[in-house]
Amino acid sequence: MLVLLGAPGAGKGTQAHVLARHFGLPRVATGDLFRGAARDGSPLGLAARGYMERGELVPDEITVEMLLERLDAPDAERGAILDGFPRTRAQAEALDRALAERGTVVDAALLVDVPTGELLQRLTGRWLCGAVGHTYHETAYPPRVPGICDIDGSALIQRDDDRPEIVKARLEKQLGALADVVEHYRAAGVLQAVDGRRPIASVTNDLLDAIEPIPYWRTSP
Ligand SMILES: [Zn+2]
Repeated sequence: MLVLLGAPGAGKGTQAHVLARHFGLPRVATGDLFRGAARDGSPLGLAARGYMERGELVPDEITVEMLLERLDAPDAERGAILDGFPRTRAQAEALDRALAERGTVVDAALLVDVPTGELLQRLTGRWLCGAVGHTYHETAYPPRVPGICDIDGSALIQRDDDRPEIVKARLEKQLGALADVVEHYRAAGVLQAVDGRRPIASVTNDLLDAIEPIPYWRTSP
């Protein structure tokens, strides 16, 4: 079992997709599990849907049960890449217990590490054109004329969700929980951190290098 960790905006999801393709393993994201549960009629799915419909967080034990059910599917027989779980220390501990019962472990927890300042820059620089929503980014892909859409000349606007003070408050909360999870895996001796500021392909190579020494994940004979 491989766990991918990273803050919002770190590029973790992108790397999870690339690694899943590389290893021929499923990428398992709890968000997808919840959406699936909302459609199927299994007892776990119905329980999870109840919490979601009341606007409550799905309890860790139910989330872990859903994860384990997903990992029983034939395509996950050789393992899986977890994307977006665990998010808290309690979830990491629940996952450890559940995996131990099945005689398996988290082989590696891969952290796509990006400094807070750069995360904020990535997350807050987004602007949309008022006409049809063409997207721009202050530093990554700025418009030719500040505040004006290149394509249709309409004024660019920023969504409330993308405003610096709102992004910062949300991010700080998430970084606190992430630090706990990182510490949990560091203590277990399975944490591997790579520099998430590098280009996507370089980050992928660094992740593969980090995984290489782990017997289960060895890609060359
Ligand atoms: Zn436009």
